[in-house]
Amino acid sequence: MAITSFSANIKSELCRIKSPLCCVKSELAALCLINGTVQINSRQGIVLNVVTENATIAKRIYTLIKEAFDINSSIFVRRKTKLKKNNSYLVEVNGKENVENLLDNLYLLGSGQGVKERIHNQLLKKRCCKRAFIRGSFLASGSVNNPDTASYHCEINVSSANHCEYLVGLFKTFHLRVKSFQRRNNYVIYLKDSDDIVDFLNIIGAHNALLTFENARVYKEMRNNVNRVVNCETANLNKIVDAAQKQIEQIKIIEKTIGLDNLPQTLKEVALERLRDPSLSLKEIGERLNPPVGKSGINHRFKRIQKIAEDILKDNLKEGE
Ligand SMILES: [Zn+2]
Repeated sequence: MAITSFSANIKSELCRIKSPLCCVKSELAALCLINGTVQINSRQGIVLNVVTENATIAKRIYTLIKEAFDINSSIFVRRKTKLKKNNSYLVEVNGKENVENLLDNLYLLGSGQGVKERIHNQLLKKRCCKRAFIRGSFLASGSVNNPDTASYHCEINVSSANHCEYLVGLFKTFHLRVKSFQRRNNYVIYLKDSDDIVDFLNIIGAHNALLTFENARVYKEMRNNVNRVVNCETANLNKIVDAAQKQIEQIKIIEKTIGLDNLPQTLKEVALERLRDPSLSLKEIGERLNPPVGKSGINHRFKRIQKIAEDILKDNLKEGE
């Protein structure tokens, strides 16, 4: 998980999904809407380019176009440069006839430059296609934080406010608690709640990633609980130690002045238990006595010891006057 990110794993998993034709159209349309451009090239005529950061996604786009519409495309690698950290992959469909045929099949034809955010109802008629459309959008520009990291986060980026609003609406039809904001020239649709991210992974069909996410989440919650218990125990222990420290001081005063042997037996026995082990709780001291004494009984005895020690101190002060 360290080298390949959680997002990359999800995307590889999504690229293995076999979809019916209706869903292939929705997924490809979503990818083209986010990552596609139509260019008029003097040499090749009309060209449709779909750019992706991920070789597996490029292969999927190539394969889906070929299998669903029998249209050939080419994949080009753009090597990383000093300015660009990663390779990118370009799927190119060439020629007026091919491009128009594909866009027509994806219900994207006839909106000016070709690929615009005109999302045809036909692409989202069925629930399976809605899921495929979200899957395609995620493949195009989505990411999910590694669930081991501090905060849960899942997002998809698009370049227009309309497109953003559209996806937010689509997320809501699946009851996801979705939010959005503008980041420079982009619009970000995001999920923060881990339950929603689990639902989202289920919707797009990333079932293995969902299990990884759930395991990480359970582990994280368990670790938080353990920390909470340890913190509570430490706090309690500190309280016991503080109280015990005071009791020991009082017992020492008595020991140095009147002597522990002059205490009533009931007080002497708790004083000795306390001196033997400062970490014992009142309850534990009570359990060590024969016969055992309850916590409140032990508390009462320490109150009496405290009173005796305070009286001794007062008497000493008077004598010193
Ligand atoms: Zn479908």
